[in-house]
Amino acid sequence: MKTKVFNSVLICFSLILLVSCSEPKKEPVWHEVYTKQGLKVVETDNTNILVHLRYSTSENFLGKDVYGNLEEAYLQPEALSKLYKASELLSKTHPELKLLIWDAARPRRIQQVLWDKVDIPLPERSQYVANPESGSIHNYGCAIDLTLADSSGNPLDMGTDYDDFSETAHIDNEVELISKGVLTDRQVQNRAILRSAMTEAGFIPIRSEWWHFDAFSRDETKSRFKIVE
Ligand SMILES: [Zn+2]
Repeated sequence: MKTKVFNSVLICFSLILLVSCSEPKKEPVWHEVYTKQGLKVVETDNTNILVHLRYSTSENFLGKDVYGNLEEAYLQPEALSKLYKASELLSKTHPELKLLIWDAARPRRIQQVLWDKVDIPLPERSQYVANPESGSIHNYGCAIDLTLADSSGNPLDMGTDYDDFSETAHIDNEVELISKGVLTDRQVQNRAILRSAMTEAGFIPIRSEWWHFDAFSRDETKSRFKIVE
């Protein structure tokens, strides 16, 4: 009798173990993760803003989806106001164009994945991917990666794709890159249209990535906002 009871308990325990092991790992509810920190979703209805998060697809330098079910762009409200201002400015100067967002807020846990997987040796790595220890401005919801698209949503030619880690993506030597035949006038003009709308709206560009803009300096970001883990 005792053995029978013991066997039943053992079977039950094994079943529980089997069920709990086979249950797929649940993804975080991103909306909760972000809104808890005061971030807001970028609205695309009735705007010239499109969202296509590249880390939620395999079209990124890792060649795999690291965002899972996260499909929407989130930002700190003040950064979002600046984005809407840039969208307004663009609609006045270039009503045929749209802002196409590739990335906005990015949790630190994903920053760690990018940091671990990027194939750039350590001394130079932080020039291209922020060290998760100190955090990227994206991790605070204060940075945005974006390009311009035509009225059908096709990205304009900017000379490089997203996450191009070469000098061709830099913004401080574009004239030289034209003279060397690396970039065309058209590509540099397209970058200038994007940069002009974004900087007029209060964003700060960075030297090494034509698609990246910060809403605030690193110091201001860190002193005013909390990192999204
Ligand atoms: Zn960026």
